[in-house]
Amino acid sequence: MDDRSPYRRGIIFILSAPSGAGKTTISRAAREVIAGLEMSISLTTRRPREGEVEGVDYQFVSEEEFNRRIAKQELAEWASNFEAFYGTPRAPLDDAVDSGRDILLDIDVQGARQIRELYPDDTATVFVLPPSFADLEERLRRRGTDSEDSIQRRLTRAREEASAYPEYDYLIINAHVEESLARLEAIVRAERMKVGRLRADFAPWKS
Ligand code: 5GP
Repeated sequence: MDDRSPYRRGIIFILSAPSGAGKTTISRAAREVIAGLEMSISLTTRRPREGEVEGVDYQFVSEEEFNRRIAKQELAEWASNFEAFYGTPRAPLDDAVDSGRDILLDIDVQGARQIRELYPDDTATVFVLPPSFADLEERLRRRGTDSEDSIQRRLTRAREEASAYPEYDYLIINAHVEESLARLEAIVRAERMKVGRLRADFAPWKS
């Protein structure tokens, strides 16, 4: 069932997690499974990993291009980590909120803070944690995309990032992807029914 409605504003769903928590798997599955949920395509200056598709996973850009987008104020937020810059294009967020469509952002804690500040009434934030830290380390190694150096840096950062969960509206402990996806869907559907999402001109009993 699709809970979109002409009577409400669109919702910006933010999904954050420490690296390796399984967030990308969840957000990719969400794109397929949850009706009416679009994905925000971030800009990044890092190189594509194997299997990543330009314009689907990211817009892969040079640092010069990234800086141009910042200068033109086309990004709603941006952040850098140890290896690259990442940013969220602003226009798709404004369009989604204005036209009652929902959009999912897979971004880090720094980015989530900026988006919440920019759209205080139109976000719903979800944090994903693995069941344990050992589990996280195992997932990072199993992914096999990072060097040992990069794994160590990601683990250190993951510990720091994990401590940000109290800033979020919802927490999903990701033991099984299907279960986590069902939880995310439950959050999306409940958020769509919140009275606070209705447009200012919503007046169903007056007509
Ligand atoms: P990865 O390089 O593994 O795809 O992503 C690294 C981190 O950057 C993840 O935590 C991811 O959520 C975050 N990220 C991806 N896109 C954006 C973005 O547009 N803005 C911010 N702030 N973080 C992002």
